[in-house]
This record gives sequence, C-alpha cells and structure tokens, in this order.
Amino acid sequence: MDNILDLTLDELKSWMKVNNEGAFRAKQVLEWIYKKHIFEFKDMTNISKTLTQKLENNFYFGIPEIKEIYTSINDDTKKLLLEFKDGNLIEAVIMKYKHGNSICVSTQVGCRMGCKFCASTLNGMVRNLTTGEIMAEILVGEKILGERISNVVLMGSGEPFDNFENVMKFLELVNADYSLNIGQRHITLSTCGIVPKIKEFADKNTQITLAISLHAFSDEKRKQIMPIANKYSIKEILDACDYYIKNTKRRVTFEYSLVKDVNDSKEDAKALAGLLKNMLCHVNLIPVNEVVENSFKRSSKKTIEEFESILKSYGVEVTVRREMGTDINAACGQLRRSYIDSQN
Ligand code: SAH
Repeated sequence: MDNILDLTLDELKSWMKVNNEGAFRAKQVLEWIYKKHIFEFKDMTNISKTLTQKLENNFYFGIPEIKEIYTSINDDTKKLLLEFKDGNLIEAVIMKYKHGNSICVSTQVGCRMGCKFCASTLNGMVRNLTTGEIMAEILVGEKILGERISNVVLMGSGEPFDNFENVMKFLELVNADYSLNIGQRHITLSTCGIVPKIKEFADKNTQITLAISLHAFSDEKRKQIMPIANKYSIKEILDACDYYIKNTKRRVTFEYSLVKDVNDSKEDAKALAGLLKNMLCHVNLIPVNEVVENSFKRSSKKTIEEFESILKSYGVEVTVRREMGTDINAACGQLRRSYIDSQN
C-alpha cells in the first residue's frame, strides 16, 4: 500500500493508465484531496465504484492523528502534535497573520544536525518524512483552521536538505495548481547550511526564500554551537548564497538566534554586519527559546535592540522575529520532547 499523498499528478496519471483508467481521473482524485479535503475514496462522488475499489486496494491516506492542539492565549498560534501510523510524533505550528495563515512544518522525525540550543536534535534523527507526510501537516492544519493556509515555512523539526529528495518533491507538489497551489514566494526553506545542497537547490531556480541558520560570525564561534560548522565554513556558505542570489534574484534570509554571552556582543554584531553588508539579504534576529535541557539563556531586550541597531547602522536589513506562541512551547521540538517524556 502506498500513501496517496506521496504522488504527483504525473505519477497518479501513470498509475491510472497501468490500471486501465482514464488519466483525467488522476486530477479528479487529487482535487478531491487538496481542494475539498476528502480523505476517503468512497466519498469522491464522480469516481466509479470499480475505480474506488482499485484505489482502496492500493492506497491509503497518510493523515496523522491529532494528539494535541495547543492554542496560545496571546496570539492564536496553534501548535499541533501529530502522530503517524508508525507511532512517530511530529510538530507543526500554525500562525495567523494579517496577510494570511502560515504553517511551520517538520521535515524529519527528530534531527541529526546537533545544534546545541535546539530541542529537536536531542534524541537524534528517527527517520525522514515522506513528501505526503509533509503535505499532510498542511492538510491537517487547514482542516483544524477551516481556512486556507497560504504560507509555508520549512522550519520545524529536521534539516530539509538532509531529506533532499522528499523535500524537493514536496515543494513541487505543494506549489502545483491541482494541489494546494501555494506560491513559491510564499514558501521559505531554512537550512543549517549544507553547502552542496544549497547549490543544487539554486540550480532548480525557484522563487522560494532560502533562509540560512547562521547564528555566529566566525567558524570558530559557530563550531561551538553548530556541529555542521565543522563541515562547511561560513565562507563556503556565503559563496553558495551568492550563487543562489545570482540564479534566483531572491534575497536570502539569515537567521541569528541571540544567546546571552555567546553570540550577542557588540563585537559580534559588528563582525556580522561586516560579513553581510554587501549582500542581498535580510537578517532575522531570534531571541533564543530557552530549552530545559541546556543552559543557553536569552539575551536581554536591551542587548537585542543594540544588536539590531548596529546591523542597521551598517546598512544591513534586519528584523527581530516577533515572538508567537511562547506560552505553548511553540519552538523547535520542545513539545514533542515534553510529550515523549510525559509518557515514560
Ligand atoms: N534545520 C533547519 C530548519 C529547522 S530549525 C535549520 O537549521 O535551519 C529552524 C530555526 O530555528 C533554525 O534557525 C534554528 O537554528 C532555530 N532554532 C532551533 N532551536 C532554537 C531555539 N531554542 N531558539 C531559537 N531558535 C532556535
């Protein structure tokens, strides 16, 4: 049995042909799923009984069970804890903005990148999510909201470029008009900086926003908090970003989580500005979310403001990430971990 959500239109068309059905049926089936949120073949009223039977014999709907929904009292942010059939748990976060609903999706169960401040990585990586499982996060989100989701950020648990094939197929499917039709400019992919994959992604020439988790201005400093820095230097990452910008003409985002006494000094800010000042980019400062398992502390409000103004004084575009859902552990694998812990 295959997860029907893993299939693109072309793949389902081929299946229809092999099974002596009209290729046009493929679009009908996918539109039931993605436009009308129907997750039973028998409820697809323009599909014949025989085809329904064939579909049921071959496919299942990989829709996870909703274990928990936490809604922030501050801003309506919803954090979902979802369970797939194999018992694996993942998190997704829905945020409501004036410009529409946005979802932060996970791309792996856990993560193996080992960033010191991040809760997703504490138990390592369990497995990759398939294309359909990432799609399902959005379908469940839309079902819960009863509204369309128009923006996707790949910033949940997992490293998207460590699950490259499935994520690329997800990006194709989520963007397709027969599917959720989410525009590339409404999608952001965040990576800890796997250089060869940044280049490969650049070669695909999409309009997707690339976000790089930088978090430090020097390799030496970065190595202290991000193991991936032992593999790729900041210089290599920035060169790959230049290549991305050259190909796509898109502005790159740099994420910089501010950790007290680790990367938040004025010198850090100046050095970071020096690195980025001539680049078509935007810096997103994220006050670090404190995680019980480590001792990293958030920088003070004053420090964050100073850091921001130093970057601005060098002409670097910068925003401090508006915090959403802090009362519901809406960050980086914290919910999954506390749930697993509570079951033990
Ligand atoms: N693996 C990808 C995407 C997932 S993490 C990446 O590294 O970009 C999404 C973002 O949240 C990354 O910038 C990550 O460094 C950051 N992050 C992880 N844990 C955090 C924490 N405790 N506080 C603030 N930001 C955190």
